[in-house]
Amino acid sequence: MVRPKTEEEIELLRENAILVSRTLAEVGKWVAPGVTTAKLNEVAETFIRDNGAIPSFLGYEGFPAAICASVNDVVVHGFPSDYVLREGDIFTADIGTLYKGYNGDSAYTYPVGEVSAETRKLLDVTKASLYKGIEAAVAGNRVGDIGHAVQSYVEGYGFSVVRELEGHGLGKSMHEEPGVPNYGRPGHGPRLVEGMVICIEPMINAGGRGVYLARNGWAVHTADHKRSAHFELTVVVRHGKAEQLSTFDYIESTGKF
Ligand code: MG
Ligand code: MG
Repeated sequence: MVRPKTEEEIELLRENAILVSRTLAEVGKWVAPGVTTAKLNEVAETFIRDNGAIPSFLGYEGFPAAICASVNDVVVHGFPSDYVLREGDIFTADIGTLYKGYNGDSAYTYPVGEVSAETRKLLDVTKASLYKGIEAAVAGNRVGDIGHAVQSYVEGYGFSVVRELEGHGLGKSMHEEPGVPNYGRPGHGPRLVEGMVICIEPMINAGGRGVYLARNGWAVHTADHKRSAHFELTVVVRHGKAEQLSTFDYIESTGKF
C-alpha cells in the first residue's frame, strides 16, 4: 500500500517541481543549432546549484551527469556529450533535483530550430498524451487508467509506447511506488488515492516500440532508430482533478517552443 504524502511533504515536492520546471526553461533558452549537450548539462547544473539544490541524477547508480540528454533516437538516459545539436534534431532534457530532502523530476523534448512536420506531430502527440494521463490521475481511479489514457491516445496516431520504462511515485526517493506504465487496462493496477505524488512520463516512439540498451549501459535507443519523445510532469492525485506540481509554462511562455 502506497502512503499518500502529507500536505507539508507536498509543499516541499512543489518547491522541487518548480525548480525543475524553471531549470527546464533555463535549458530551453540555450537549445539551438550549434550548442553541445554538454553545455546544456552545465547550464542546468549551474542553475540548480545556484538555487541551493543538488542535481539528483549526478552519481545516481553511477550516472555521470546532472541531466539526461537524449537526442533523436535516444529514448532516455543519454549522456551529455560533445555532440553539437543540429537544425531539425530533437533534444530531451530529463532533470532531477534534491532540495530540502525531497525530489523533483520532469522532462521535456525540445525541437532544435525548425523540425519536420512529422517530428512536430510526435512532440505534440506525446505531450498531449501526458495531459491525457494527468486527466486520469484522480482519486478512485487505478494506475491502469493512466496508462490506458496515454496508450490509446498515442496509438490513435500510429505512434508506439515504450514498455520497458515507466513513471513512478516521487518523494524522499526519486523512484517510489507505484510504477506508472504508459500502457494498461482501465480499472487495473494499484488504486490512486488522494495525496499520492506521481510522475507521469510517456516515452513515445515514432516507429515501433522496440528499444535496446547502448553498450554504455545507460542510453536507451529505439530499435528502428526512428525518433522518440519524452515529456514528464509531477502531479498530486486529488479527488476530481489532479494537481500539477511541475509545469511547462516557464518553457512555453517564451514562445520559442
Ligand atoms: Mg525524469
Ligand atoms: Mg521520472
